[in-house]
Amino acid sequence: MKTPFLDLHANYRSIKTEIDAAIATVIADSAFIGGKYVMAFEEAFAAYHKAAFCVGVGNGTDALEIALEALNLPSGSEVIVPANSFIATSEAVTRVGYRVRFCDCDPETCTISVKDAAKRVTAATKAIIPVHLYGRPCDMDGVMKLAASHGLKVIEDCAQAHGAEYKGQRVGGIGDLGTFSFYPGKNLGAYGDAGAIVTNDSDLAVRCRMTANHGRTEKYNHRFEGRNSRLDGLQAAILSVKLRHLDDWTEARRARARRYSEILAEQGVVTPLESYGVRHVYHLYVIECAGREALAQALKNEGIGTGIHYPIALPLLDAYSHLGGTAADFPHACGLAGRILSLPLYPELPLEQVEHVATRVASLTKEPN
Ligand SMILES: *Cc1c(COP(=O)(O)O)cnc(C)c1O
Repeated sequence: MKTPFLDLHANYRSIKTEIDAAIATVIADSAFIGGKYVMAFEEAFAAYHKAAFCVGVGNGTDALEIALEALNLPSGSEVIVPANSFIATSEAVTRVGYRVRFCDCDPETCTISVKDAAKRVTAATKAIIPVHLYGRPCDMDGVMKLAASHGLKVIEDCAQAHGAEYKGQRVGGIGDLGTFSFYPGKNLGAYGDAGAIVTNDSDLAVRCRMTANHGRTEKYNHRFEGRNSRLDGLQAAILSVKLRHLDDWTEARRARARRYSEILAEQGVVTPLESYGVRHVYHLYVIECAGREALAQALKNEGIGTGIHYPIALPLLDAYSHLGGTAADFPHACGLAGRILSLPLYPELPLEQVEHVATRVASLTKEPN
């Protein structure tokens, strides 16, 4: 039984009529940049995340950069970033002119270790970016407490966590700003690049919007130099259609994750922790195992796709060799990088296939290799 890691076409088939109609409408209206489809999506997405404002931008990396820029920190400020994330989180910090300060993750949740972050704070530290990795909300009480005690701004990187909840609160609106990616494979994915920023602070919202649109609020009146990073009408209309289905898809993801865990945990495989008080939205279903490469290869031979998110902790990438970080500085993030494996998971994945994959994983991890 072939099981791809992800099947975007299965998702399209399930909503084809709605999507095709939405695309045709935007084209008929020539509403390609800005306009009512973008505004409607921004409003719906802000409401979905229980935030006051949403600013659509070009992609999730730009969302991080624009959010960081809106904070207007002194140049050279340090920003704390977990060692295990996609490079966009730290890349944005550098590109805006700040300095990256990596911290380790918690070994059980794989999200930022607030305890370790506290040790990395210096006089130059001005912000922290918790990443709701794999769709699991971080310890936001801990992050907010740390931020309050050191006067740090908080940007939540929600690229993998659309609709995730921490103690009843949707992610994104807990910190000063929340950034989202709508990369096609994300839980809410566009049909191209797209992203958004949410916030409850009207000044930050205005700054983000101006930065993303050449530093202006009206045509040809530019208050400062910004950039061009806009959500386009076609993507906004597609995202509005998909947002209406997101809760159902999230429930489908959670049900598949539960089934995986039922089978795998019983067989002694290390499965994702279901923490009390959080709604994990399972962008990725990540197990831990020894002999990860051999397992991935054996599954591939059987037509089962897997992924590794991410194989090298950020401080150990060539891009950050100048910072001089070693595996000993980030033991949990670096340890996990060698053991983690992401299994196929998407809302349309048939439960029988989840069971098949889980059974194969359990059996293959038992075989001596
Ligand atoms: C996908 C992702 C991003 C970047 O989003 P793009 O839309 O691809 O630019 C940032 N942070 C994390 C954690 C991501 O997973």
